[in-house]
Amino acid sequence: MHCPVCDYPDAKPELTLADRFFETSPGPFVLYSCPACRTLFQDPDAIRSSIASFYPAGYWWKQDGRGSRLERAYRDWMVRNDHLRFVLSLFKGQKRLRCLDIGCGEATFVRLALAAGLDAYGLEQSEDAVLLADLPGRIFQASERELIEKGEKFQLITLFHSLEHMLEPFAYLRGLQKLLVKPGGLIVQVPNRDSLQSRVFGRRWYGLDCPRHVCNYSLFAVLYLLGKAGYRIRSVRHFSLRDNAAAMVSSLFPALDPMSQKVKRVRRSGSSHSGGLLFKEFAYLGLLLFAQPLAALEAALGRGGTVTVYATLD
Ligand SMILES: [Zn+2]
Repeated sequence: MHCPVCDYPDAKPELTLADRFFETSPGPFVLYSCPACRTLFQDPDAIRSSIASFYPAGYWWKQDGRGSRLERAYRDWMVRNDHLRFVLSLFKGQKRLRCLDIGCGEATFVRLALAAGLDAYGLEQSEDAVLLADLPGRIFQASERELIEKGEKFQLITLFHSLEHMLEPFAYLRGLQKLLVKPGGLIVQVPNRDSLQSRVFGRRWYGLDCPRHVCNYSLFAVLYLLGKAGYRIRSVRHFSLRDNAAAMVSSLFPALDPMSQKVKRVRRSGSSHSGGLLFKEFAYLGLLLFAQPLAALEAALGRGGTVTVYATLD
């Protein structure tokens, strides 16, 4: 099998996985491993026609009750102190930065970036998510190609947990150049296949999120891909306050994963309402606190559960 990142021609099957977290797709799904760049990927031609069905109803977060008000405060705090703080540290003093968050979901990042004074927009394919975002004029429900045709340009594009969902990541990153002014910035955050948690949990690692994650990158693979697509690497970050510890907890206790719980509730009853605060939510939060020092340690060793790369187009 041809590697979508480095073009190695003969990657072999390494894993066969089912949809462990949302149980939406019967599978099984074959993942090929590239010996040259260590990308673990699915055959794009095998899933191209079914990929839309991998995303369950209820995949988007919505506030609908007392428990979820607390959850919203928690999510906002995490995104503000993680992703937004990182962006603001890179663009200190730059007023009204025009930025686009691709795959913005219900647009937590866009909402907080607007509040911080950025000229923020989101791109999202899901109509449900765009309705939940409730930010008129700020969320494009369109494809990247349609934005290019409209002549939209941005100083910064963020891809937080989006690139691993792309069937053709190289062509995708090349195409994004048309949405950036020069010099422009690109932030890519993906799960790190070379992380310690990936090594510990193996096929049970949350970061694989099969079948939604089409390409699982090593740090080398994501840097190589960005360089090949014409971007200059500026910095790499191994710690993510929001994502790394959460991936550890969800790998160990998939039944406690909040998104997995919500998807199952929606499937059972048609509502994401949890009926108030649940023991499971407190248990998850407690485990997260316990896992944060471990996540900080693996990041300090350069083996964090995610990598966040800042690259520029000069
Ligand atoms: Zn490769």
